[in-house]
Amino acid sequence: MTVKTMLAAKGRDVVFLSPGATVGEAVNCLAEHRIGALVLVDEEMGVKGIFSERDVMRLLAERGTAVLEEKLEGVMTRVVVTCTEDEDIVTIMERMTRGRFRHVPVVSGNRLCGIISIGDVVKHRVEEMQREHDELRTYIMTA
Ligand code: AMP
Repeated sequence: MTVKTMLAAKGRDVVFLSPGATVGEAVNCLAEHRIGALVLVDEEMGVKGIFSERDVMRLLAERGTAVLEEKLEGVMTRVVVTCTEDEDIVTIMERMTRGRFRHVPVVSGNRLCGIISIGDVVKHRVEEMQREHDELRTYIMTA
């Protein structure tokens, strides 16, 4: 399955903020939308960074609550691994495993156009395995 097919099924909504927003605003945004990561974009929707719940934990442990007033541009992950719509989900899964992160923004011509999370990938794999299981069962029963 391609990223494009998965986006068609799950939707293209991505929660994003500007790198000029604060860590406190990001925490509220993550909580409000019940998600694990935010993409930080410029005015043209170009990806500038990513900020996840793990970053919140680490920053609070290292610097305490004063970090909530800081701007995301100083603390976000700047080198973001992205993907394009024509790529296969298996490739994205390998990219997540290798990079040890759970979110991959989708870009089209450098603009943010979706996001794939580990939850989306796991859901897809479970459905795929269930389908294979059902097909094998039918094959055995009818052979
Ligand atoms: P996550 O597993 O997505 O919560 O992220 C774990 C760490 O990897 C955090 O420091 C994130 O800022 C960073 N991260 C998340 N997604 C990506 C990505 N696509 N590219 C680079 N870093 C990322």
